[in-house]
Amino acid sequence: MKDCSGITRGKEERDAFLVADLGVVVKKHLDFIKLMPRVKPFYAVKCNNSRVVVKLLADLGAGFDCASKPEIEFVQEIGVKPEQIIYANPCKQISQIRFAAKSGVQMMTFDNEEELVKVSQSHPNAKMVLRITTDDSKSTICLSVKFGASLNVCRHLLEMAMKLNVEVIGVSFHVGSGCNDPKAFAQSIADARSVFEMASEFGHNMRLLDIGGGFPGTDNSEIKFEEFAAVVNPALDMHFTQDSSVDIIAEPGRYYVESAFSLAVNIIAKKEVQLVHSGSDGEENGTSKNVLYYVNDGIYGSFSCILYKHAHPKLVLHKKPSPTQPIYSSSLWGPTCDSSDQIAEHLRLPELYIGDWLLFDNIGAYTVATSCSFNGFLPPPIHFAMSHQRWEDVQLLRTGIAKAGKWMAPSKPHVLD
Ligand SMILES: *Cc1c(COP(=O)(O)O)cnc(C)c1O
Repeated sequence: MKDCSGITRGKEERDAFLVADLGVVVKKHLDFIKLMPRVKPFYAVKCNNSRVVVKLLADLGAGFDCASKPEIEFVQEIGVKPEQIIYANPCKQISQIRFAAKSGVQMMTFDNEEELVKVSQSHPNAKMVLRITTDDSKSTICLSVKFGASLNVCRHLLEMAMKLNVEVIGVSFHVGSGCNDPKAFAQSIADARSVFEMASEFGHNMRLLDIGGGFPGTDNSEIKFEEFAAVVNPALDMHFTQDSSVDIIAEPGRYYVESAFSLAVNIIAKKEVQLVHSGSDGEENGTSKNVLYYVNDGIYGSFSCILYKHAHPKLVLHKKPSPTQPIYSSSLWGPTCDSSDQIAEHLRLPELYIGDWLLFDNIGAYTVATSCSFNGFLPPPIHFAMSHQRWEDVQLLRTGIAKAGKWMAPSKPHVLD
């Protein structure tokens, strides 16, 4: 019921919330191992560190890419074995390298000489993976400005490693998050091969290729995962033949979680302003209604992906408007007192009311993991669900993993039809 002010009565408790369909994560995993059969996924924990997601992926037999001591502690506490973890941060604090050594995590990345010196003094059993730069010009988030060694310094680094008695076992790269050019993988795989050759000259026993992350997270992305697989698989077969006894891993983050999460926010406040339009002569020639809607989650919460330029979530109206309803220029704002806490502008929307729900899909990557409680607004709770069909897939996979001797204790999430 609406009264004359348009306020919906009796429904004050309308906190924002997230729904995670874990079935999507299961489906993504099945697709990954089917479409890139030679590549073992090591999920990048930083992308979405929801415990339930990490536990599910551990149960499905995935490995993990951790970038810090707390991330390593977190996955180990869930039961992940050290061999299933790559400490994929090329620039680590010495105390955290020591922690990795103590907790049995051996695979770590590096891209500079200082790191080799630190590792030689703090982690005698480290198995180092040389991270190389990539052409990330076609990616949403470029990582090569911060990480990676260019091919012309690799020789020196590999020689240094030999001198320092640090074991190098492989090469890694990351084409950049939200990659729009599968060819970047082909080039980087070829580059990795040339680094393998160099390393072998110095006597390193090279046996790991890590093709990183960057794969698309939604089905409506410009380029589908299938198209990445169609470039990656032949490149692997060409440069790292099936019989080459090189283990191949990847570090997908966004791919697993982006489309699994949806968000519901509620309109908590509303303001109408009249915009004055002026003609070419500078004279006022009319006004139009512009509506500001304030909702109970914003860029310091689940929309933090906007802040980091990772994504612009698309609004879906809970109630479909009728075609006869007038449309107004509208903007959406988060609940904090910061004026940069804006979710969207220049939206063409019918009139909405306080208490109305707005929905956003594809909100699982770099959202809940990067949110904070600025201004006292807590990140929304997440409700996890999975269909019976997917739950059966999980049981089948687990049985398979159990036979292979890598089973981990199950945790049953809430099951929905
Ligand atoms: C962030 C990151 C990933 C995950 O990237 P996505 O684009 O989310 O797949 C993988 N590896 C490393 C080293 C990263 O920093």
